[in-house]
Amino acid sequence: MRKRHLFTPGPVDVPPEVLSALAEPLIHHRAPDFIPYFKAANEGLKYVFQTQNPVVTFAGSGTAAMEAAVANTLSPGDRAITVEGGKFGERWTELCKAYGVEPIVLKIEWGKAVTPEQIEEALTGNPDVKAVFLTLTETSTGVLTDVESICEIVAKTDAISVVDAVSALAAEKLLTDAWKVDIVVAGSQKALMLPPGLAFCSVSAKAQAAIARSKCPKYYLSLAKAIKKLEKDDTPYTPAVSLIRALVVAAKMIRDEGIENVWARHARLGRALREAAVAMNLSVFAQNPSNVVTAIRIPDGVDGEKIPKILRDKHGVTIAGGQEQLKGKVIRIATLGWANDLDVFAVIGALDLTLAEMGHKFERGAGLAAAARALSA
Ligand SMILES: *Cc1c(COP(=O)(O)O)cnc(C)c1O
Repeated sequence: MRKRHLFTPGPVDVPPEVLSALAEPLIHHRAPDFIPYFKAANEGLKYVFQTQNPVVTFAGSGTAAMEAAVANTLSPGDRAITVEGGKFGERWTELCKAYGVEPIVLKIEWGKAVTPEQIEEALTGNPDVKAVFLTLTETSTGVLTDVESICEIVAKTDAISVVDAVSALAAEKLLTDAWKVDIVVAGSQKALMLPPGLAFCSVSAKAQAAIARSKCPKYYLSLAKAIKKLEKDDTPYTPAVSLIRALVVAAKMIRDEGIENVWARHARLGRALREAAVAMNLSVFAQNPSNVVTAIRIPDGVDGEKIPKILRDKHGVTIAGGQEQLKGKVIRIATLGWANDLDVFAVIGALDLTLAEMGHKFERGAGLAAAARALSA
């Protein structure tokens, strides 16, 4: 089998220590054996989320936590603000509609971030809004949103703030409590360095009050039931035992490195990728780029859909292409979780070979040199 390199915004390369934990024999989840693991996992999550709020874990992908946030805090007929500047922002609109919640949609040009002023204006114009749904790093465009300023504004109203940090958690700075974010949702298969299968939701006191009023239907994804059980480090239904044991290991790796250092490492790698892209006669798509995933604009005349295929088939490198309106127009490279300086050289080196093969005009090796300079700055 060829050596493979994953540069996708989930799933990501999983460190060997975490893989070993996944291979441990199963233990019963209602037995005393499991409780210390779940306790450690929950403490680890609070550290990674930077919160004292309960963090609920569901067996499901990140979208399960998004769905839980909508279904548990709102009632049919409620109104909520959503931001459509990419595919994942659109998911909030779709989820609201699925539960009979009326979305007030702020349409943002792809590549740009919604501004705190735009949110403030929408809230002033719609004082009955019950929730504001945001995306910290919009994975389809590589855009970072100023969630800190926006949640400060939302905190002054009766609405709750809900932040999709599925691709951002443990990669991009996020201070759940200090920024007054009521609900943060995340998933296991991104910077948490785990396989897919766990979804997380942190829930503030304000969000818990909203949960008490909510009339949307829910059963498996009931946050009230999960929070009650969580007080005893227990779950309403069978937890994903192996994934939770692996989470304990991954969270410890993050804690040992220090969350600020983890954010700084992602910032370094993201900057190196962006500088390499520019040096290769390409450009960065996002105006306010995140460090999680770098969307690189592909010039006309170069087939952007072919680049990921050549990278995969010739070099064993998996990156993501563009979605929807960006199909063929951008490539997306993620350096998420267990990624380091050498990974940047690997992906930029493979991109150099691929772009040369495709006839793109650029100075050979310039991307690698720019990355080297950025990484030693
Ligand atoms: C990956 C991702 C999700 C969740 O997707 P799942 O496939 O359900 O895990 C949600 N939002 C963002 C921004 C993402 O990057």
